Amino acid sequence: AAKRAGRDRVSVYRPELRAARETFTRISAGLRHAIERGELTVHYQPVVELPSARIVAVEALLRWTPPTGPVPPLDFIPVAEETGMIVPIGAWVLEQACRDAKDWHDRHGTSLTVNVSVRQLAEPGFADQVLRTLARTGLPAAALVLEITESVFVGVADDAAPLLAALDGLRTHGIRVAIDDFGTGYSSLSYLTQLPVDILKIDRSFVPTSQEVGEDHAFTRAVLQLGTSRQLPAIAEGIETQEQAQLLHDLGCRLAQGYHFARPGPVAQVDAAFLRLNPALTP
Ligand code: C2E
Ligand code: MG
Ligand code: MG
Ligand code: MG
Repeated sequence: AAKRAGRDRVSVYRPELRAARETFTRISAGLRHAIERGELTVHYQPVVELPSARIVAVEALLRWTPPTGPVPPLDFIPVAEETGMIVPIGAWVLEQACRDAKDWHDRHGTSLTVNVSVRQLAEPGFADQVLRTLARTGLPAAALVLEITESVFVGVADDAAPLLAALDGLRTHGIRVAIDDFGTGYSSLSYLTQLPVDILKIDRSFVPTSQEVGEDHAFTRAVLQLGTSRQLPAIAEGIETQEQAQLLHDLGCRLAQGYHFARPGPVAQVDAAFLRLNPALTP
């Protein structure tokens, strides 16, 4: 029986492996021409201040729609990272996002946050490319935030030195750095305070659901305390209900993002969100 179970496992395992390899090949082949075929677009999700829900920033979120239909970022971003295609694609996103965000910045004073992969950060010319993009699009450095996922800083020890230096170089120009998905990478809060970062984005898995509203939320509380003690403001991700927004505000969180306030969408949808949430500032 054990032998048969073993053989069954193998026969189940192999087609799965092959399917994963085929998916990878299909996605990477399609992505290779995505820019020139005009299949990429950038959507934006507002970041709001609590409790006013006034928009203070927008996060750029890449969308890929080949003729077969939209592919979720969680499916194609890892392929783009592994193949290195994230370098040209990321440059395209930054350029497009700075162009779109310039108008919102001029009218509402909002910042732009852009997700950056470690592959991009590790490119020797990355800082220059960012500065050239800002110069071309007219978006001020102080209005740009680069989001780096927390896992980049965990368990890389010495390899991290050039990446941290690149971030520090960008910060001397006034560009801010946010740690994305904070809480998922198991880095200690004390380690965090040594990193060249300006903003923490609390991963939505640490945002209490309405069932957990009565609990003590020690981690979320500790992260938010860093904000007050170390001038490290936090953005709570994935706020879906008014109860969550209220709870985060009660815990001392000043900034939030989530479907409750606005879903990611194309420029026109963000313009509508500005009309709804920042009416006094909209001419
Ligand atoms: P992220 O940077 O943590 O972005 C937040 C994700 O949460 C987005 O998913 C957003 O649509 C989703 N989200 C926002 N509010 C809510 C909410 O209230 N509830 C729930 N359940 N989800 C919410 P999306 O757009 O699918 O992007 C997934 C990830 O793909 C991003 O996570 C980011 O790591 C990556 N990504 C997206 N665009 C880019 C890009 O231009 N470059 C790079 N390197 N990565 C990107
Ligand atoms: Mg992000
Ligand atoms: Mg991210
Ligand atoms: Mg995140």
